[in-house]
Amino acid sequence: MADTTCPDCAVEMDQIERTTFTGRDMREYQCPKCGRKEIIDCGKALWQILSDADENQVKTSPLPSPDSCISRSFAAKTFLAAY
Ligand SMILES: [Zn+2]
Repeated sequence: MADTTCPDCAVEMDQIERTTFTGRDMREYQCPKCGRKEIIDCGKALWQILSDADENQVKTSPLPSPDSCISRSFAAKTFLAAY
């Protein structure tokens, strides 16, 4: 957990800004007492994590082979024929 306490006043700072467009979750906090601003890097932004996961999935998922398509339509025909 990121430290959001003002080092000068030891009071909890308020979150005034949040940016994730760089791919990182950056939050800006301001001390309500002295006005000191701190930017805290909370790690990778959620959308960046998700887009990374998507990329990995595309790379690792095998293309459907023609064989599996044939057997699937065959299974569907058999299913329909049963009725
Ligand atoms: Zn302060």
